[in-house]
Amino acid sequence: MGDDALRTRRVVGNWKMNGALAGNAALLGACASAFPESAVGAGRAVEVAVCVPFPYLAQARDLLSGSAVRWGAQDVSVHSSGAHTGEVSAAMITDFGGSFVIVGHSERRAHHSETSALVAGKAAAALAAGLTPIICLGETLEERETDMTEAVIAGQLSVCIEVLGYDHVAQCVIAYEPVWAIGTGRNATPDQVQSVHAFLRRRLGPAGASVSLLYGGSVKASNAAELFAMPDVDGGLIGGASLKLADFEPICRACA
Ligand code: PEP
Repeated sequence: MGDDALRTRRVVGNWKMNGALAGNAALLGACASAFPESAVGAGRAVEVAVCVPFPYLAQARDLLSGSAVRWGAQDVSVHSSGAHTGEVSAAMITDFGGSFVIVGHSERRAHHSETSALVAGKAAAALAAGLTPIICLGETLEERETDMTEAVIAGQLSVCIEVLGYDHVAQCVIAYEPVWAIGTGRNATPDQVQSVHAFLRRRLGPAGASVSLLYGGSVKASNAAELFAMPDVDGGLIGGASLKLADFEPICRACA
């Protein structure tokens, strides 16, 4: 819907809690070589990024600087500083050159009791520090099977709109990640994804023209092109397949 030439196409890797210095060095170095400055995609320009565990932000900065690949984190504190043991602020992520932070991933909503209000607060904290939040939304299998998908997603999105306002939502990236498709090998079909993305785009109102809507959930080299060809899909958030360049690179190129 709308003029998709206005929207940035992106593929973002979510490493989750994977990695170690030696293996990361090989993967980050290979990513930097695969995507040297300004060289992602022969067709439409695609922004490629990886969201790494906090301890590896400095390593990502050191190995990706000078390449076209950006980096970021997988969570952020709603607070800006102070007595919040164990938390990491948005300014700390930008201090390491991060551009993105994932907020509201279903693993955090489910296993760390994160509410939509907290997720929206984290997105606000990220924007205030100059980071682009990637706000994850999605329904469970039970919710899909009981026809609750749109209601659930509308509820998650509306809290973000209430807290941030349309102007700030327009600066966010939104990732539709059906919980039943994450890490299961079972991706949503292109038609299912397009239907939810078109719904989200309508609910985004005035912000819909600029927000990149990513799909996440078992994206692989073999299904990326058909998912990314959908008119309201602007790229992907990639978990397992972002851990090997042989898997990640063709997914990034499929978005071009
Ligand atoms: C994710 O965790 O954001 C994700 C999309 O995982 P996977 O690609 O492994 O399903």
